[in-house]
Amino acid sequence: MADIIQLLPDHVANQIAAGEVVQRPASVVKELVENAIDADATSIKLIIKDAGKTQIQVIDDGKGMSDTDARMSFERHATSKIKSAEDLFQLQTKGFRGEALASIAAIAHVELKTKPDYQDLGTAIVIEGSQVKSQEVVVTPKGTSISVKNLFFNIPARRNFLKSNTVELRHIIDEFHRVALAHPTIEFIMYHNGGELFNLPKTNYRQRIVNIFGSKTNEKLVPVEETTEIVTISGFVAKPEYSRKTKTEQFFFVNNRFIKSAYLNHAVNAAFDGLIKDTYHPSYFLNLQVNPESIDINIHPTKTEIKFEDEHTLYAIIRSAVKHSLGQFNVAPVLDFESDQNLNTPYNYKDKAASAPGIQVDRNYNPFKESSFKSQGFQKSPQPHWESLYVETATDSNDDNFSNIEFESKAENSVLFDDQHKEKKQSTFQLQQKYIVSTLKSGLLIIDQYRAHQRILYESLLKSMTVKTAVTQQLLFQLKLNFSKSDMEILKELQTELEQAGFVFASFESEYLEITGVPFNVSDSEITIIFEQLISDIENDVPEANFSATDLLAKSMAKSLAVKRGQYLTIAEQDHMVNSLFACKEPSVSPSNKATFITIGTDKIDRKFI
Ligand code: ADP
Ligand code: MG
Repeated sequence: MADIIQLLPDHVANQIAAGEVVQRPASVVKELVENAIDADATSIKLIIKDAGKTQIQVIDDGKGMSDTDARMSFERHATSKIKSAEDLFQLQTKGFRGEALASIAAIAHVELKTKPDYQDLGTAIVIEGSQVKSQEVVVTPKGTSISVKNLFFNIPARRNFLKSNTVELRHIIDEFHRVALAHPTIEFIMYHNGGELFNLPKTNYRQRIVNIFGSKTNEKLVPVEETTEIVTISGFVAKPEYSRKTKTEQFFFVNNRFIKSAYLNHAVNAAFDGLIKDTYHPSYFLNLQVNPESIDINIHPTKTEIKFEDEHTLYAIIRSAVKHSLGQFNVAPVLDFESDQNLNTPYNYKDKAASAPGIQVDRNYNPFKESSFKSQGFQKSPQPHWESLYVETATDSNDDNFSNIEFESKAENSVLFDDQHKEKKQSTFQLQQKYIVSTLKSGLLIIDQYRAHQRILYESLLKSMTVKTAVTQQLLFQLKLNFSKSDMEILKELQTELEQAGFVFASFESEYLEITGVPFNVSDSEITIIFEQLISDIENDVPEANFSATDLLAKSMAKSLAVKRGQYLTIAEQDHMVNSLFACKEPSVSPSNKATFITIGTDKIDRKFI
């Protein structure tokens, strides 16, 4: 048989390898900025168009390249950073594989301009899909400028796979934060679609953090310093009261390289144990300097995990260093054993017998009536008749998969029980303030109140947002909310949708939001929750490529506004919830596709009694 093995042509091999290095625009940003740092740049400019889908450009004032090096830099395994395998264990640079430029040039239109200090003229190279289109001598300042356009132009599948601009920009900003935090002594400037997003002058670490995350950050930071034989730790943690719902302000750097480590993250969490709520995460910015020989970073180029020689000791050191700082800066609660208890008790209570605190429940409180119930969409009606709001959806729903849900007729079950609620016969009860239980002809119906309410709100919000019937209530006092610049970028992308939902903004500045109006039925205390949830939803569950901002906002708001598990519901509220749920288009699942209710057939119950 004839030989059949062939070597792949270079450009095909490059294209395949490129997939590993370049997953999205943010990967290009990371590689180019790291190259600029390796070239000893003191100032780096990042210019982004359309979240990197149209253009990514990095301009540095580093050492530049000679014309031969400029041409060589696009070859696979071309690197100036290591010469032998031993060098791998003493790495001081970010790059070393010599793959990035070759990979990027294989799948994009690249324009390089570069000039070393010792030459008067520089080199310009245009390269598209690994093909060199031109190489010229040009006038250009010292340093390097690389512009990458039309990423994945020759791999349509990859291009289509890119997420929305909101998501891709988020990834770029994340990368930008990571390198900018690791190098406070380098100036970084970032532009997006012509506007300046970040302008970070050369400074110290603390100031760099503040410049990135906003002026309010300064008061939150507590320094952490520790020097031991195996590691030198420096950096900051945020005081416990500033912990966040998201994990976005958690940074570990090892020898100035951003890394992720669930294990070391656990060490910091352990230091905060008992100081913050379970669902919150501490913010930290910690630099670890270790002997390069004690770590192994020679793994996948895009991975941020590294291996440590002595992870357990490192864990213990980090935990105690953070604990020590929190203690030293008096942020841990102080137990005062010295003081005399009697002195702390108001004298007229001193000899009084203790009595159990009373519990007051407003039995008439009905969140489904009046303004406190939010499921009415944002349609203002003084005496809400939810039925009328759901007329269309109710008919739609008949052909759905729950059409076999038939409630037991109320006349039948009223005989056994006293009718305590004059206006309504009890057909539901609440189980552990989590579930609403009701009877069906065929058995039992158990509804998850949180998920069910999310479904109801979601459909109603979606409707008012798409039909643009949202009703706004003006705030008495305009509300100013502070966000980091990157969070503001996320919110800006959603401005139209937020306005459709009923929000009115007085200003959309780079670090704060002024709100003058909110959707009807959203209370003051819920506004911050809605925005925090929204940011955390985008950061944590990266939406699908075909995601719609309206849908995301409706889901997120429904999550914020829904009655939570653990909330007491009156009979009327339970009843209302059941009816509203089954008037939905898709009552059986929550907006995030989880079951809203289950049924247990009488036959199954019968079998239990055999
Ligand atoms: P690596 O960074 O792993 O060496 P790259 O493909 O990223 O591989 O870059 C190849 C080479 O091109 C680098 O080793 C460096 O010599 C040169 N180079 C790349 N970017 C720059 C830059 N901004 N300034 C100076 N030289 C650069
Ligand atoms: Mg590189």
